[in-house]
Amino acid sequence: MPSASHVFHRSSRATPPRAVSGHGAYLVDENGKQYLDGSGGAAVSCLGHSDAEVIAAIQDQVGRLAFAHTGFFTSEPAERLADRLVAHAPDGIDKVYFVSGGSEAVETALKMARQYFIEIGQPSRTRFIARRQSYHGNTLGALSAGGNAWRKAPFAPLMAESHHIAPCYAYRGQEAGESLEDYGLRVANELEAELLRLGPDTVIGFVAEPVVGATMGAVPAVPGYFRRIREICDRYGILLILDEVMCGMGRTGTLFACEQDGISPDIVTIAKGLGAGYQPIGATLCSGAIHDAFAEGSGFFQHGHTYIGHATACAAADVVVGKLTDGGMTARSAEMGERLDRALRDRFGQHPHIGDIRGRGMFRGLEIVEDRETKRPFAPEKGVNKAIKAAAFEAGLICYPMGGTIDGRTGDHVLLAPPFILTDDQVGELVDKLDTAF
Ligand code: PMP
Repeated sequence: MPSASHVFHRSSRATPPRAVSGHGAYLVDENGKQYLDGSGGAAVSCLGHSDAEVIAAIQDQVGRLAFAHTGFFTSEPAERLADRLVAHAPDGIDKVYFVSGGSEAVETALKMARQYFIEIGQPSRTRFIARRQSYHGNTLGALSAGGNAWRKAPFAPLMAESHHIAPCYAYRGQEAGESLEDYGLRVANELEAELLRLGPDTVIGFVAEPVVGATMGAVPAVPGYFRRIREICDRYGILLILDEVMCGMGRTGTLFACEQDGISPDIVTIAKGLGAGYQPIGATLCSGAIHDAFAEGSGFFQHGHTYIGHATACAAADVVVGKLTDGGMTARSAEMGERLDRALRDRFGQHPHIGDIRGRGMFRGLEIVEDRETKRPFAPEKGVNKAIKAAAFEAGLICYPMGGTIDGRTGDHVLLAPPFILTDDQVGELVDKLDTAF
């Protein structure tokens, strides 16, 4: 066995267990211990760990043409994948800019949006508005745009100027006697107030996840929220940039999460489930109007990465997206997601420390609270989320627990994002193991 001692591990000084194989919904470590992949890594492994069709596509492509630098060539897998994505994309989305992962996709979206306004003669637009508690990636630009204070603090000062409004988070935001619709309009209207405060012609766009993943635990917007956001963006001529890195690619039961909100963005980012873990890949999709604004020689053409449109990654993702759409795996996410939701509610609906169970498709979150009545979270020093992660791991379940500051209050939640191939028995196993961990 190679020594792990020269690997710079993420997150901690500790060396994690060594993974040696994966099959279906399970990962196996070097001691033969099996883990049910309840989080798909981080909402990545939508098809499970040993999909024969994706493996065959990679083997076929890598033997013919692994990589051709896009400074010189386009490739057939990239063309095919772009066609397939656009055919299933929200109305108005027409072009696909390939990258290697989620942060690159968001970084590309921010630079694309900025350059778009330079191209159309509105260079005064230099700021972004996003939401508090949001995470849009770890590169400096994407980190700047996000509103996740504790991730940003160690790296301050950051790059892009970004302002933050409240997230759409009914569990903690809805007031007594207020309907969900009224709550949605009230928080969406914060965008307009912030635009007016900043001066609308200084703002490039509004960045948001349709279903908030890592930082809040699968929180969908309430009905009507994104329609109002779309109206406000249109009224003030700012771009709506949706980050579907985590919630896209069938994860919420539709290929793009925003389909369920009844709106189309100007720019949308995807990654994670696009490669399903088989190849690193992401993409920034934009409208024809944005693409067409870039004249030959435009500043945006200075942007770019070495692995754009990587032929093998595109060949793998093309099979993944084919399985998600024509192959019915997105419909399976919707169906199994309902069953997972029912199983979670049956088991934990009355749990004294589970305040909320939420999500869409195979993207579910449980919010952990000290007191259900008052929704008071556990004190952060208790490290509840870390303890749950460790206990679940011990029990052979990978889940994605996070704690964070929610408008000044600290909370804990568990995010579940299992492969869509999960069986009913495995739903039961997941819930049992989570119960053990709790
Ligand atoms: N945006 C969102 C919404 C994400 O959840 C993530 C990753 N958790 C990213 C961007 C960054 O993606 P990556 O880690 O692939 O760079």
